[in-house]
Parts: sequence; structure tokens; C-alpha cells
Amino acid sequence: MADVTDATQEGQKVTAQEVNIIAAKEIANLVRSTLGPMGMDKMLVSNDGSITVTNDGATILRTVNITHPTARMIIQVAKAQEAECYDGTTSSVIFAGELMKQTEQLLAKGIHPTMIVRGFKQAAKKALAHLDTITENTGKALNDVALTAMTGKSAEDDGDHLAALCVEAATRSSPNDVNIVVRPGAPVSDSFFTDGCIVDKSKMIHSMPEAVVGAKVALFDCELTVPSLGQGVNMQFNDPTLASQYLEEKKTELATIAQQIIDSGANVVLSMKDIDPAVADVFARNKVYAARRVAASDLEAVAVATNATIVSNALDIEPADLGECDSVEEKKFDLSPRPLLFFNGVPNSEVSSIMVFAPTEHLAYEIGRALDDAVGVVHIAHKDNAIVSGGGSAYMSMSLQVKDFAASVGGRAQLAVEAYAEALEIIPATLAENCGLSPIDSLLKLRVAHANGDHGAYIDAFEGDLSADRTVIEPKRVVHTAVQGATDTACMILRIDNIVTAKEPDEFGM
Ligand code: ADP
Ligand code: MG
Repeated sequence: MADVTDATQEGQKVTAQEVNIIAAKEIANLVRSTLGPMGMDKMLVSNDGSITVTNDGATILRTVNITHPTARMIIQVAKAQEAECYDGTTSSVIFAGELMKQTEQLLAKGIHPTMIVRGFKQAAKKALAHLDTITENTGKALNDVALTAMTGKSAEDDGDHLAALCVEAATRSSPNDVNIVVRPGAPVSDSFFTDGCIVDKSKMIHSMPEAVVGAKVALFDCELTVPSLGQGVNMQFNDPTLASQYLEEKKTELATIAQQIIDSGANVVLSMKDIDPAVADVFARNKVYAARRVAASDLEAVAVATNATIVSNALDIEPADLGECDSVEEKKFDLSPRPLLFFNGVPNSEVSSIMVFAPTEHLAYEIGRALDDAVGVVHIAHKDNAIVSGGGSAYMSMSLQVKDFAASVGGRAQLAVEAYAEALEIIPATLAENCGLSPIDSLLKLRVAHANGDHGAYIDAFEGDLSADRTVIEPKRVVHTAVQGATDTACMILRIDNIVTAKEPDEFGM
């Protein structure tokens, strides 16, 4: 067997455990500086040279090209966190990295990995049980939940306005049904919420109607044209009448396509692909609105909102495939030259849209990402009706509880439980460090406040001092999932003593 790193193998310089700890710490270090409201951004440059400036841990980890299998496992923690909670990705990775760092010292003291795993699991159980006791009902806190989720992102400057949009969308729709449309070229304060659907497209031909009342919507993910012959195919006509006959036939076919769609009752047509000018011309003459090259995500959003079926062959359209809504109209905005398409009065009352404006494209997309997360976070806080204090407060509270518990554990597992308690402090410590405070002093102050029974105390990143005003809050689920996910992954990695690289399968597929 080649490529084996064995923790127990004699003469091996670096064991699998050491390699795994290094990998976990590296990933945590990569995102460390972005944690919290004063966290720095990263500039991500893709292979084709396009740039993303972001503070979002999940976006960073999704983009970096990482091949080490253990590092990839840590990234999985972030992915799971994002999928379930929309937020807390950086925290989960930093905590997982810190658990692995603590492991290093425990292993050096000669504690067996299985013992460490047992201690960590006991500690996590205790920590999460304590989290339940400091959880509160959401009440009127949704706005603060949205603001907490957005602080530190570029969305923060217009935070109050954007938070209100988030709350409106998240209390009406599930995050999947919130359509966020992003457009540069106008101030962020122009961003708005609407309970219908918005598509960033405009009509194909000027003579098409600007608005359609009583809209019947046909959606296609195919081209509305006759199939063209493959490239390089030559046609030779020996008789000019044949050539014009061919062209006539093509025209008739195109007209049939248009007529079939109109006959189905459609008066609004959107296609993900191209629409032939001849087809569009028939639409325009019949006062049918049409837009082409609509983004797949927009097409799906309209389908959900209007109860339409997306059709893949123009001639297959039937009345039952059409969606409906009160009206479809193009609206123009002062500073943004191109109009937007609005679907008003849609039958699916669970759909909503947020239109995000920002002066530049990078900013618009970063705000779009921040809103996407914030809507999810607010939705969770609303649905679970369970919130905890942010700013590392819940982590500190859990840490103290676990420390207390450690004394009762005894034996070698006690060291692992103590190490777990220490690892929990990494979140408040990193938050303090990232806003230029001394982590040691801040942790001391915070510990004292919590020990005195102030379960909501946190280090306010902007004041640089202790606060307990309960405006920095996050859903309990965000903290719970991060702690659980990081612990599970750390334990899984700890049990590995051997990394074996699979060889190429042989002729028997073995
Ligand atoms: P994550 O990817 O883990 O969500 P963020 O960079 O979004 O990382 O930072 C989130 C952390 O910042 C949370 O622990 C949150 O409670 C904390 N936080 C937000 N606002 C403040 C604030 N004003 N003061 C201190 N901490 C804050
Ligand atoms: Mg966050």
C-alpha cells in the first residue's frame, strides 16, 4: 500500500493525527479574521479573474481550492451549518479548529483519542443542555436578529432599512421562496420589498404592451424558434423558387409556434433561452408581452409564484400550463435606466421578493448575499421562537457551565472536558481580538459578568466594552448547530489514525 500515514507506525515523522490537527487549524486560521462585526473582508479571485469581496465564511470556504481530505471535512461543517442555519459558518469552523488545537495538547499529555472523544461528547451534551436554559422567546426581537446577522457585512450602513425588508420577507415566506434581485446603479436606500415576483428583464420589442392586466403566464426553458441546421451544413437550391419556398415554410413554422402559444391563452411569455424575432413579432401584434434569456432562478420563482408549469417544447403548451396573476408590468426607476418586470397579485401568497439596489456591482452582490443569509436567520428565529445572546455571550455561558461540570467528571476525561470549556471561549476571544481588544482582558471581564449571573453579557464590538443590552442576538439554532457540528467533526477526525489513499482500480475494479 502506498501513501499511508499511520499514527502508530514506527519511524514515521508526522502522524495522521498531527497532519489532521494542522489541516483543521489552517482552515480555522483562514477565516478567523473575518469573524464578527469588525472582521476583515477577503478578496477572492477566481480562475477567470473575476473578483468577489466578501466577509462570509461560507463563501470563502466554498471558493478556496482545498485538497487536503481533513480540511475538506472541516469545510463540510461550514456547509452543513450554512444549509441548516444560513449563518454561523465562521464560528463553527473556528470552534472546530480550536477543538483540534486543544486535542494537540491532550495528545501530548498522553491521553488516548478515544478518551478525548468521550470527554468532548460529555462536555457538548452539558453545554447544549445549558444553552436551552439561557434561550429566550423571540418576541419582538426579529429586527435585532436581522441587524446582528448583517453587522460587519457591507449591508450594515443601511442596516435599519434592510433589516425591515428582511423581517417582512422572512415572516411571510420560507427563505427558498424569497426572490432576491440585485441591481447596481442606485442607492441602497432605494431597495424595497414586494409580495409578488420581480424579474430583471424587459420586453423584447418596443411595441409590446408595458403592462398586462389579468396575466396568463407561459414559461419556457427552450428556444422559441425552429431548430436550425447544424453548423457547417450547406443547402443548395437549383431553383430560386425552392429557396423562397424554404424561407416561406420556415416563416409559417415560426408563425405556428407563436399562434399555438397565443391560442393557449397566454398573454405573457418568458423564455430562458432565445425567442425568434419572427415569433416575437407575432406576439407584439397580438399584444402579448415577451421577454427572453430570463435567468433560470427567476423563471422558477415566477413558476412558483404564479403556479405555472415550465414547458420544454413550444408546441406542447396547454392552457393548464399557464400561470396566473393580477397583473404583469414594467416599472422604471429614476436612477436605474433599465426597467424591471413585476408580477403583482400572485396566487401563491408565500412568495416574496426583495429588490436590492447598490451603487456598484460588487456591493450589490455582497449585500444580496448578506440579505440572503439574514432572511434565513430571521426566518429561523421566527419559526423556532428561540434566541440567545450573541457576541460570544452564549459561548462564554456554556464554557463556564462546562468548566463547573469538569470538576465532577474526574479521571483523565476531566482534562478533555476542561479543554472543551476552554475551546468554547475561542468565539468571544476572536470577536474581541478582531475589534482590536485584548482577548485576555475581555475574557476576564466577560467571565466575571457571567459568573455574577449576567447571562446576556457580551463584549460590544463597537463600544469595545462589556454590554448587556440584548440587542445583539441570534437564533439558538445557529449556536446549537455550530457547537454540535464542530464537536461531531472534531471527534470523527480524532478517531482517524490512518490516512489511506485509494489506488487506481485494477482490471477487476478492485
Ligand atoms: P459567522 O459566519 O459565524 O456568522 P460573522 O462574521 O457573521 O460570523 O460574525 C458573527 C458573530 O458576530 C456572532 O457571534 C455575533 O453574535 C457577533 N456579533 C454581531 N454583532 C456584534 C456586536 N455588535 N458586538 C459583538 N459581537 C457581535
Ligand atoms: Mg454571520
